[in-house]
Amino acid sequence: MKTNLQKTGTSKPVTKNPASNAFSGRAVKRPTKSTASRCPVSNKCGGCQYVDIPYQDQLKQKQKLLTTLFSSYGKPQPIMGMELPDFYRNKVHAVFGLDSKRKPVAGVYEAASHRIVPVESCFLEDQKATAIIRTIKGLLPSFKIKVYDENSGYGLLRHVLIRTARETGQIMVVLVLASPILPSKNNFVKALRKEHPEITTIVINVNDRKTSMVLGDKEQTIYGKGYIEDVLCGKVFKLSPKSFYQVNPVQTSRLYETAVSYAGLTGKETVLDAYCGIGTIGMIAAEKAKRVIGVELNQDAVRDAVYNAKKNGIKNIQFYQKDAGQFMIQLAEQKEKVDVVFMDPPRAGSDEAFLGSVITCSPKKIVYISCNPETLARDLKFLTRKGYKVQKIQGVDMFPHTEHIECVVLLSKVQN
Ligand code: SAH
Repeated sequence: MKTNLQKTGTSKPVTKNPASNAFSGRAVKRPTKSTASRCPVSNKCGGCQYVDIPYQDQLKQKQKLLTTLFSSYGKPQPIMGMELPDFYRNKVHAVFGLDSKRKPVAGVYEAASHRIVPVESCFLEDQKATAIIRTIKGLLPSFKIKVYDENSGYGLLRHVLIRTARETGQIMVVLVLASPILPSKNNFVKALRKEHPEITTIVINVNDRKTSMVLGDKEQTIYGKGYIEDVLCGKVFKLSPKSFYQVNPVQTSRLYETAVSYAGLTGKETVLDAYCGIGTIGMIAAEKAKRVIGVELNQDAVRDAVYNAKKNGIKNIQFYQKDAGQFMIQLAEQKEKVDVVFMDPPRAGSDEAFLGSVITCSPKKIVYISCNPETLARDLKFLTRKGYKVQKIQGVDMFPHTEHIECVVLLSKVQN
């Protein structure tokens, strides 16, 4: 199933082109039409461009790409692959609508269209999440719940979003509705939980606009706490429906451990965690640093971050809800001393407001975490022209079976 790989939280537009091809034009060895794909809808969905390439070859292809892209900075470390690269995604999204015969379907938008490709199962997604989506679809007729028709604007159910927490086993179901009233709400919850007692919370999100964004602003919890908690690198993290959380928990631990080890913290440093989401990296770094400052644009994520710090008993961390660039300008103006900057921007990368002020603040180390090697390359060019040197590049395969690559890069300030 085509999935939201972008680091934008979940209120991002549903893309209708194949997984926002970061590496378009590159030769991807796909099976010929005569050989059947592992996934019957992969061609239409476009979410798993590499699903038919043996996993070790996928890794080789990704390594080659990083080597080419970053050749001027030295050789990247061998990419960290997964032992079991199937069914890794902890966040699953299905769009509900009508097919050409006006029958309800759940799946993904076909590339460059508003047609929905029905999806029964997916090699990327948590299998419990897939099963819950199937159950919800099966329950619709008996509860007389109509799916939303994009053309007429009639109907109720637009999307289902499921988040699973691998460590704690908690599961959140978000029903995105066109209007706030779910018929026989309590019985629906009962029926869904009868099939899937592992669901720990169910939230209604109301999206009444004609938009390609998945989530609307209004939320109502109809079962459980309205959020789930997961454990990562020994810390507990609360996740709200709209907060960003990395989609591959197994690889995320390795990604964060690499990032924090690159920083080489000694306990004396002031650390900035920019684009911090729910505060994951900063909180893992906090026990090794003097002080951590987190900045993040999304209000829900910042709320979660503050809660998470408290829950984990971390006292040397503060969070600010602000544009990272604007915040960085302010830090630079106040001549705030920052020793290490972790930065983990969305796919579009960072901006000159942020990068320029990082240069002014002059941290000893920058640890750049990126889900888009191309914007990473652009930003590295900027930083390396302004007195920083790339020390290490580590690819982490966060998105097996897709063309996407996550990277951690360590830069250090060149001594004058
Ligand atoms: N470091 C976190 C989140 C990374 S995703 C983690 O590993 O979980 C990127 C984050 O950047 C998202 O939470 C998104 O909401 C946030 N973001 C996007 N644009 C931003 C901006 N201009 N300023 C600050 N944060 C931004």
